[in-house]
Amino acid sequence: MENKVLLKIENLRKFFAIKSGFRKKYVQAVDDVSFEIRKGETLGLVGESGCGKTTLGRTVLRLHEPTAGRIIYDGEVIFDGKNVKQNKNMKDYRHKMQIIFQDPSASLDPRMTVGEIVAEALDIHNLYPDKGKRKNRVAELLDMVGLNREHANRYPHEFSGGQQQRIGIARALAVEPEFIVCDEPISALDVSIQAQIVNMLEEMQNRLGLTYLFIAHDLSVVRHISSRIGVMYLGNMVELVDAKELYKNPLHPYTKTLLSAVPIPDPEVNRNSQRIMLEGEIPSAINPPSGCRFHTRCPVATENCKTQVPEFREIEQGHFVACHLV
Ligand code: SF4
Repeated sequence: MENKVLLKIENLRKFFAIKSGFRKKYVQAVDDVSFEIRKGETLGLVGESGCGKTTLGRTVLRLHEPTAGRIIYDGEVIFDGKNVKQNKNMKDYRHKMQIIFQDPSASLDPRMTVGEIVAEALDIHNLYPDKGKRKNRVAELLDMVGLNREHANRYPHEFSGGQQQRIGIARALAVEPEFIVCDEPISALDVSIQAQIVNMLEEMQNRLGLTYLFIAHDLSVVRHISSRIGVMYLGNMVELVDAKELYKNPLHPYTKTLLSAVPIPDPEVNRNSQRIMLEGEIPSAINPPSGCRFHTRCPVATENCKTQVPEFREIEQGHFVACHLV
């Protein structure tokens, strides 16, 4: 894939300060993460709950202000932790960079009509000052996501979960974005509805040339929609590679355990697969393990792993892994 890089993330960190007695501690939600997303591609991002993927998605959009690192969007540095005075005003980028939230019912204001919800971003960016054109644009957006224009006068609670997510998607598309963070957009929905929403997101991508960062907690969801997949563990990116290659040739021990839990309809991949059980809970991001953060649960950890942080490096072309044994 030779497409131009749309988003470049360099050594991104997001730490949240919390009070613990008289002391201040930090939740190291995202620590030293780097990757690129090319125009028109979908980068899937997976990992257990608490691995920092949602925080990463929001920090990329500066809905959470990063603690350190750089964010470069379409060649422009929009955040630089070393030179914060240069940081761009995100209002100029909000219409290019949007988000679809996990829980559609919680993300839609119950006091607003669907039409008002979808039109809100148009008003913020002053895109359709003419009332008639604004109304037509809302109707067009509702059509695009499989709802109809009469729905504009109704309220979110009158819709099913799947329809509410369609409203959330219409709201994100309203301002004609280029890049969308899809933050577990189907995990709160019935299984029967999930495929419809994924198919619709793919159709929108083809039609509008969108670029996605698609966050999910398991690999079966991102398998079909992603061109490449990044795997996160406790605030770190541990593996990043072409989606097909990840299923055929996972290299990081954590990716292998995640994959072993996913039924893969490919006899070549499944032939030798065996379920690998991870012991223990994911450790706290307030006081993460030293060295490799995965060493407390890794089935092949060595003494070295307890003290040395593995570098996230390119092992083969386009295949990045952070593990001493790879
Ligand atoms: Fe396991 Fe060590 Fe590799 Fe970390 S660096 S994944 S602990 S083998």
